[in-house]
Amino acid sequence: MYRTHTCGELRLADASKKVQLAGWVQRVRRLGGMTFIDLRDRYGITQLTVSEKTPENIRLAAEKLGREFVLQVEGLVVERTSKNSKIPTGDVEVSLLALRVLSAAELPPFTIEDESDGGEELRAKYRYLDLRRNPVKNALMLRHRVAQEARKYLDAQNFLEIETPFLIKSTPEGARDFVVPSRVHPGEFYALPQSPQTFKQLLMVAGYDRYFQLVRCFRDEDLRADRQPEFTQIDCEMAFVEREDILQTFGGMMQHLFRRVLDVALDAIPRMTYADAMRDYGCDKPDVRFGMKIKELTQQVQGNGFAAFDSAAYVGGICASGCAAYTRRQLDELTEWVKRPQIGAKGLVYLRLTDDGVKSSVDKFYPAEALQQLAAALGARQGDLILLLAGNRKQALNALCELRLEMGARLGLRRRGAFAPLWVVDFPLLDWDSEAQRFYAMHHPFTAPQPNDLPLFMSGDREALKSVRADAYDFVVNGVELGGGSIRIFDAAIQQQMFKVLGFTPEDAEYKFGFLTSAFKFGAPPHGGIAFGFDRLCSMFGGSDSIRDYIAFPKNNAARDTMIDSPSRIDNAQLEELGIEVAGERGK
Ligand code: ASP
Repeated sequence: MYRTHTCGELRLADASKKVQLAGWVQRVRRLGGMTFIDLRDRYGITQLTVSEKTPENIRLAAEKLGREFVLQVEGLVVERTSKNSKIPTGDVEVSLLALRVLSAAELPPFTIEDESDGGEELRAKYRYLDLRRNPVKNALMLRHRVAQEARKYLDAQNFLEIETPFLIKSTPEGARDFVVPSRVHPGEFYALPQSPQTFKQLLMVAGYDRYFQLVRCFRDEDLRADRQPEFTQIDCEMAFVEREDILQTFGGMMQHLFRRVLDVALDAIPRMTYADAMRDYGCDKPDVRFGMKIKELTQQVQGNGFAAFDSAAYVGGICASGCAAYTRRQLDELTEWVKRPQIGAKGLVYLRLTDDGVKSSVDKFYPAEALQQLAAALGARQGDLILLLAGNRKQALNALCELRLEMGARLGLRRRGAFAPLWVVDFPLLDWDSEAQRFYAMHHPFTAPQPNDLPLFMSGDREALKSVRADAYDFVVNGVELGGGSIRIFDAAIQQQMFKVLGFTPEDAEYKFGFLTSAFKFGAPPHGGIAFGFDRLCSMFGGSDSIRDYIAFPKNNAARDTMIDSPSRIDNAQLEELGIEVAGERGK
């Protein structure tokens, strides 16, 4: 037996017990004739003491200890004279009777402390050392809690956890597939699942009417901050349901998780249509912790000779309360901010509602009365600042969305610890790409059109198709999309129409998804589902913006694991075995 207790366990009530502990040396301090060793394990830290009365062999051994040595010790629990109220074990210490070094340790490349001196890259390379730090450990413990609570809720609701394969064929979620060459079938490849979408639908056909899985998904997307090529979803599907059933069941799951993990009681989860979200917030995942809604003013501002507005398809604005005192410099800085390529606005027009009337950057085009009317349209009051942007509708709304979020942050309206969840519903089914002159599925090709819009969908008319709404929904909290799903097509004819609309030839559709359409011919129940981004959910619960903090072994922003050095080359023999032609330098 290595230990009788953990390093987080001993209390005053244990005084005078003889105990054994095992763990890592956090610190060694020498004070006069005394040596204090902080011994750490997953559960906490216990102070060990070596005094002049300690047997000599232990005193000698203690002198040679360094950070991160692994020890097994035996000792007597005694009350401390100077207690440490910051740690739960701070009332006691263990006076050593025996000490065994189980493993010596090299000096770690960074300090294993809550605030480490190691930079991100260094800590990523030695992730196993980083994982010893409390903030990282706490993040993984939180992740565990969320997973267990999700399982508890779903199990209680009769869901079955069923695993689906990783070596499959392409699943369309809009990203590229990671592919795996098959050695036994040279020239053929598996794809790693972007999601278990088709399998969970097949499970519905098979009669497993409530399925879930905490499952890894793989998407070979372009690099972006805080994207992981592999990530985890809470993936769910139900049969014999309508949208309402899904929203109730999974709204319930979210309420359960917020209550159990954060002790936060969420009210019934409000809903907003996609159209309203776009109109009022400029995006489909609004942060509704604060108002500052966008207002369209296109009609109102045109015809006064201000070219930037007259030529724009869309003009809209927001009202930042109490910001009329913004200085010229602040306004210039904000203008530069909206002109950054990520935001893409051409310029920024402002109206300051000061004590001396409305002051604006477009005074010469608009009489005072017109400016007052603009202010009124935005519900602005004295002391407020109005910010206007113009452009094509999509781009201007997007810029306004970003500007609103930025102003919300600057005004302290995006409070941590406040949670504003909502369901966004009634998404368009299809997205028209005018450059490529084709439709894309807004969610994925298995999403059903809303029953009322089915005739429009089946008509196949391009303009009609643009207005078809999907039975799809997203779960959004504080401007972050945490989950999304849809009611599915379960009728082979509608599914075929969908493939046609998306530009698949019948042969293509058959080759890629024939297994699903065939399955639908053998008795498919109405079904629908949803998937939640589990890593993101954890980071939301943990109050962090980075999902990487909640993954034990994450990849960096360049999709690399620098600890194991992956991706990496494989040798020619392995390539040959896989029947892959050896290309470039290495093949010569
Ligand atoms: N498979 C979808 C996704 O990964 C979720 C769903 O429709 O259930 O986004």
